[in-house]
Amino acid sequence: MLGAIAGDIIGSPYEGLGSKEYDFPLFALHSCFTDDTVLTIAVAVAILDGLDYGAALRDFGNRYPGRGYGGYFVGWLADPSKGPYNSWGNGSAMRVTPVGYAFESVDQILLEAKRSAEVTHNHEEGIRGAQATALAVFLARTGSAKDELREEISKRFGYEMDRTVEEIRASYTFDISCQGSVPESIICFLDSEDFESAVRNAISLGGDTDTMACIAGGIAEAYYGQLPVEVAREVKARLPHEFLETVLRFESRFRVANGT
Ligand SMILES: [Mg+2]
Repeated sequence: MLGAIAGDIIGSPYEGLGSKEYDFPLFALHSCFTDDTVLTIAVAVAILDGLDYGAALRDFGNRYPGRGYGGYFVGWLADPSKGPYNSWGNGSAMRVTPVGYAFESVDQILLEAKRSAEVTHNHEEGIRGAQATALAVFLARTGSAKDELREEISKRFGYEMDRTVEEIRASYTFDISCQGSVPESIICFLDSEDFESAVRNAISLGGDTDTMACIAGGIAEAYYGQLPVEVAREVKARLPHEFLETVLRFESRFRVANGT
């Protein structure tokens, strides 16, 4: 789960720049956590404490305002009576990594990913993006080979997975839809050789950098294991105490038990 947060923080200075550079500095002074991290923590807390996903998202979103939330989400946060708003945005995918760790069968993963998405993102693409991301995390941490993961995601969700990062990068532009950023983020993991290269791949597409690196980073950590020590140190130094506590609590409940 720290891998998703790391991707968000590493990608944060590059959002909206459209840069296709690969060899950028991993951390800058203004690298910081954004909405992706806040809402990933919210989903983790919902799972740990048995809370409703919507209630946890509202709680954290309102307590950590101004972190780059989408306009409709801000409206949803402000109005407790507001229901889901049929979004297909990648907000459902950027917050779902904890689901991939916390449940133990494909059916459960798909069901919980849907539940975590549909409190806001009840469009079928919003749900699909969350399910594909959570399933990728699950398959990565339970020993699937990359080719199996690629085929499973392609077959189950209809995403075009037979592309390389280089092919995508050539014509890729900023895209906040699930359907235009989730498959690409998963490919960034598939084309990586370690945690760092997965995150660099995602940011080098020049799109929604923090969210794509969050998705790719979450899957990469599940596949490769613990983050490099230096990356984990830089990331933790940029998190509020409450988030660190949640990461620890989540990892001791799920990660250790899973042997990853
Ligand atoms: Mg963000």
